[in-house]
Amino acid sequence: MSALPRAAVIATGDELVVGRTLDTNSAAIARRLSAAGYEPASFLVLGDDEDGLAEALQRLARDHDAIVVTGGLGPTLDDVTRHAAARAANVELATDERVLAELQALFATRNRPFLPANARQALFPRGADVLANPHGTAPGFHLLLGRARVFALPGPPREMLPMLEKDVLPRLARRDGVASAQRFVHLFGLPESALAEALGSAMRRDANPLVGVTAKDGVLTVVVRALDASAPAAEERAEAAAREFEARFAEYAFSRTEPDLARVLGAELLARSARVTVAESCTGGLLAGRLTSVPGISAVFERGWIVYANEAKSAELGVEPGMLARHGAVSSEVAAALALGAARKAGARLSLAVTGIAGPGGGTAEKPAALVWFGVALDGGVTTTERRFVVRERELVRAFAVNTALDLGRRALLGSAG
Ligand code: AMP
Ligand code: MG
Repeated sequence: MSALPRAAVIATGDELVVGRTLDTNSAAIARRLSAAGYEPASFLVLGDDEDGLAEALQRLARDHDAIVVTGGLGPTLDDVTRHAAARAANVELATDERVLAELQALFATRNRPFLPANARQALFPRGADVLANPHGTAPGFHLLLGRARVFALPGPPREMLPMLEKDVLPRLARRDGVASAQRFVHLFGLPESALAEALGSAMRRDANPLVGVTAKDGVLTVVVRALDASAPAAEERAEAAAREFEARFAEYAFSRTEPDLARVLGAELLARSARVTVAESCTGGLLAGRLTSVPGISAVFERGWIVYANEAKSAELGVEPGMLARHGAVSSEVAAALALGAARKAGARLSLAVTGIAGPGGGTAEKPAALVWFGVALDGGVTTTERRFVVRERELVRAFAVNTALDLGRRALLGSAG
């Protein structure tokens, strides 16, 4: 199997290299190039530096098939992309008379004087195709350099994206016989290192399908990327591998398409018309926030409780003060009492309770920071689960706690009869 054609993305602008503006163009371009069957192989962020850009273009044109540059097409002296491209291609810059006339006409209709600097935007490396910009004054261009097709696009995303869709992607349409396909498996409850260990040589960088893992707040996503001689063959190869991973990690896999556990639990609740409620201490409403981010959840979620202080746990959800005194708020007993109390008051089938030490302070040797107890009440019964998260930052502990509660609720519901 030969490899996919390689693409490079260069974002230019002094504002990017000092971190004043976030480079969003590169990710947007990479997503589309990847979908078009290219391997986004190299990324570069450069200041407004003609020499640096000319050198980078020459170097990348040796081992990339497509190079997309954004920024530096304005009228001012720090807009150097056209000069750098001409230098890299060893050609002159020449004025495109049609573009010049269009720019002059545009300025006339706006009653603005046409200054010499504006004529810079009608300059292009000789031999380049001009790419029209209906959303701004800076046209882009396309030229051949070494092995690569080079595209220079304006920096502002609302000008760049239409040009990418209309002028770049059609010129990059693939006619050769290598296609790629991608599949995902989302898992929860397994440490990333354990998953990597279990996947073993499947994660080798030269494997086909190529397997990668990303992690966010405890959710692991296995990304399977397959290459094959045709699109259907690649799809089939990726699908088969993803199905195999899903079966192998069935205990942890919760979706092939949806990485958000709140949406997955929400869909299960809605399918069963099962009312849900929450009793939150250390997550302070984050769990309810996630649940209520699910469209349509009002059919099954009416109310929940944030009971931060011991007094609130007793007054709102009937947790006995004696129990709180004996076991502490972060305990199996209190997690169970919170879940049952909320279930009763809300008339809910499923009730999720979270009580823990978000940290960084407040821990003891026996009950350290990042210790969280979960209570899950379903149809009148209740189970509790203890977790000691390895993350230490307060916000991460809370995010892991929310996902754990959602996953425990999902498992409880799937394991139930109705
Ligand atoms: P330029 O075409 O270099 O004059 O860029 C004009 C404006 O586009 C900049 O001031 C930024 O606000 C925006 N811009 C340029 N490059 C990027 C990028 N890579 N990502 C997001 N915005 C950008
Ligand atoms: Mg700029």
